[in-house]
Amino acid sequence: LDRSTGTVATVSAGPAVPAVPAVAGATLRVPLVTGGDIGYANLDHAASAPCLDAVRSAVDEFLPWYASVHRGAGFASQVSTRLYERTRDVLRRFVDARNGDSVIFTRNTTDAFNLLAKALPRKTSVVVFDSEHHAALLPWRGPNVRRVQLPRTRLAAVSVVDEALAECPQGPRLVVVAGASNVTGELLPVAEIAAVARKHGARVALDAAQLAPHRRISLRELDVDYVALSGHKLYAPFGAGALIGRSDWLRAAEPYLAGGGATKLVTEEAVVWNSGEERHEAGSPNTVGVYALGVACEQLAAHWNAVGSHEAALLERLRKGLASLPGCAELRFFDAPVDRVGTVSFVVDGFEPGWLAAVLSAEYGIGVRDGAFCAHVAARRLIREAGSEGQQAVRVSLGLGSTEEHVDRLLLALRQIVARGA
Ligand code: PLP
Repeated sequence: LDRSTGTVATVSAGPAVPAVPAVAGATLRVPLVTGGDIGYANLDHAASAPCLDAVRSAVDEFLPWYASVHRGAGFASQVSTRLYERTRDVLRRFVDARNGDSVIFTRNTTDAFNLLAKALPRKTSVVVFDSEHHAALLPWRGPNVRRVQLPRTRLAAVSVVDEALAECPQGPRLVVVAGASNVTGELLPVAEIAAVARKHGARVALDAAQLAPHRRISLRELDVDYVALSGHKLYAPFGAGALIGRSDWLRAAEPYLAGGGATKLVTEEAVVWNSGEERHEAGSPNTVGVYALGVACEQLAAHWNAVGSHEAALLERLRKGLASLPGCAELRFFDAPVDRVGTVSFVVDGFEPGWLAAVLSAEYGIGVRDGAFCAHVAARRLIREAGSEGQQAVRVSLGLGSTEEHVDRLLLALRQIVARGA
């Protein structure tokens, strides 16, 4: 009882241990070169996340029912069409889109950005950081594309965009930025960049491939115009992603693919294209994949708090362990610590990353990624800055399939490998 206001506080049962949605494959076992097998420690969520149990059951239930969407009068077609169209609303809610925003289903983030690149008005100037994944770096072509180096502070990153936009010629402008780096897991200052973009009349496209599986996204709050994401990073199977955002450029653009479904009417003389989302979705769509993507988004949206605390605890454990590993240097874009998702890349002095990853897999049943992570320019810069002469690093990425045991096994394995030498 608060005596000054006379109000009674709600009595809570104490902090509940949050449960994260279960992933399929949590009990998978993999062979070891030393003989026998071991529970698979999948520490490569940033590449593709394992399917959620809930997604798997939903897909299982839907499989006997799938049929062509928008084209059939049969009951199964009606069911499929309803689920497919309903998923647009699920995604709209998932990213807190504005009324009137389009939700176009694509194969993945790469496909979404290629679609957007084709839909840009002529002579659109594009500003993009060199730290972007190739999917967000390469689709933009022509003399009006400005690739800028991501500086070492978030504040400077905003200024760099400001300066680059100020130098763009008159006309439409677009800034492309990732929510979270697929190399370091660090979050970029998206809202601040969007505010600067507005000042210059520019639009912003958010690459949410790495952010969406870990954090709630709000297009309205970030004031971002487009977002691209991939189902296979969001705990759904491969093959479905989305581009969500302002519909005017998308409606005015040539269809991304020419074919059935994108057309309203075809005569001997002319083609009348659809003006809605279907304009860019020619061909029979991936109905099952889209449905799975929607279910995964609904699951994540219902568990954000649990997802956040699960990943934060594992990330802290992982980074602490790596910090005490002899010769280990973590890659980071920013000098000061920033908010980040559970992705960490590192080099270990004297050890070739591809070899390390292979030993982790063969001897310890741990799956990690090695390479330059489809962000060659920036990853190589960070690798050099971390003191390595190589061009590759090891990346560990956490998610809902990760456990303390996986992290501890990785840290123990690295200590043992380092102790015995390359
Ligand atoms: N953007 C980022 C930040 C990524 O990490 C990835 C994939 O790793 C992509 C885009 C491309 O995603 P997809 O291969 O699903 O098109």
